[in-house]
Amino acid sequence: MGESSITIPNPVIPDIRKHEKEKLKKCPECGFVWEFNYQKKTIHRYADFPSYGLKKEICKKCSMA
Ligand SMILES: [Zn+2]
Repeated sequence: MGESSITIPNPVIPDIRKHEKEKLKKCPECGFVWEFNYQKKTIHRYADFPSYGLKKEICKKCSMA
């Protein structure tokens, strides 16, 4: 009695990383800057993203089409 067990969940701190330029690529087909998220296994495409100095590589969507 009077004993309280409070479970404090550990705050989930997301692993926020800066955009690594090596991962970002510019697709010459659709013109989007894109990257592959290895953790989520998803492709992110950015319509308005500075593509200066990025590698040119056809994105997964264009290569599958
Ligand atoms: Zn594309």
